Amino acid sequence: MINEYFGVAPKGDLLLIQKLGEKFRSRSLVHINSTREGGGVAEILYRMIPIIHELGIDVRWEVMEGDERFYDITKKIHNALQGYPEKISRQMWDYHFEVNQQNAGRLSLDSDAVFIHDPQPSPLIKFKKKGTWMWRCHIDVANPIHEVCNYLKKYCKKFDAAIFSVAQFAQEMPIAEFIIPPSIDPFSEKNRELGDKEIKETVDRLEIPTDRPIILQVSRFDRFKDPIGVIEAYRNVKKYNDCILILAGSPATDDPEGSEVLEEVRQYAAGDSDIKVLLLPPFSDKDINALQRIATIVVQKSLKEGFGLTVSEAMWKGKPVLGGAAGGIPLQIIHGITGFLVYSVEGAAFRIRQFLNNPGMAVRMGEKGKEYIRQNFLMTRQIRDYLSVWYALENRGKSILEL
Ligand code: UDP
Repeated sequence: MINEYFGVAPKGDLLLIQKLGEKFRSRSLVHINSTREGGGVAEILYRMIPIIHELGIDVRWEVMEGDERFYDITKKIHNALQGYPEKISRQMWDYHFEVNQQNAGRLSLDSDAVFIHDPQPSPLIKFKKKGTWMWRCHIDVANPIHEVCNYLKKYCKKFDAAIFSVAQFAQEMPIAEFIIPPSIDPFSEKNRELGDKEIKETVDRLEIPTDRPIILQVSRFDRFKDPIGVIEAYRNVKKYNDCILILAGSPATDDPEGSEVLEEVRQYAAGDSDIKVLLLPPFSDKDINALQRIATIVVQKSLKEGFGLTVSEAMWKGKPVLGGAAGGIPLQIIHGITGFLVYSVEGAAFRIRQFLNNPGMAVRMGEKGKEYIRQNFLMTRQIRDYLSVWYALENRGKSILEL
């Protein structure tokens, strides 16, 4: 499997992960998060676990369990960390802890390295017995509601280290902090090359018109992804350039707000048959892949964004992209070189038109974008970084070459 990446991913990353694999051979590593489907975290773990396993590391992926009340609370915590004014009461925090306490009895936590993803399972740190524990935050915590953030830090600061996707998200805490952006897997069903027949199968089944340029946003139906803003931008563009808008999303089991937002989007789009709001079942990876490949322009107009894997996915397919200047999106889009960053509906509409009216520029930016993803955002780089952090924490920061 690793060999497949030679010639695709940077060679230095591959050599280093093989070396780290030797150092950690037969050692145990567990990733714990809150959903197996929907959203970027599950997307990454699916692909990453088999590669780490192939390196000879005894790796597992465990998913915590919670009920509706738990996920309502954790979605509120998530929203507050991204700056939305939510209040988390004492009883809510207590319930958050209680559910984690139950999970601690169910999950096997005694690994040499433990990666806890996001706030939902963060109280598990209270049940640590051994190993190196890392809190892996995927959320845009650049401007959080401080009361909520500070409460959560009571757990986070007990970890050996925290890992954020973007430097601006780092928090004042008495533990080591690392910056590791997420990544995509070029060989996943979501990103692999597709044949024309495979693309056509999706286009026909989902009844996608191909007679005009297609603007695409792929996202959970979440207000921070600003689907309404995307429709407004499209309406603005449509006055001058005929085009189709596709908003594709699927539900995530840890996101209870999805159906409400989907309904808002459907109502807002009603009456325009050139807007296609697609609710795809989980694991529609080949369909997403095909949609990204037939799109003329890919948009990710997020207002807050941990990283925005959809941006890398589209760039890897050589598409011209525009994204909200939020969270991890500016790491991927170098404004004017690998795409455009936008700050408003008007800005998004302006850049969409610029792409539509300058196809040559769109192709050139798409090519640069693909190369940029190759160098920086393929999964082997992220595995290199995770294993390096584990290594650095166990070996007090010594380089792998020193030991
Ligand atoms: N995704 C998907 N189907 C959908 C919507 C999203 O497979 O209907 C995938 C998308 O391709 C990406 C991930 O879910 O790989 C979303 O990650 P991102 O970082 O963009 O956002 P998050 O959902 O984690 O906030």
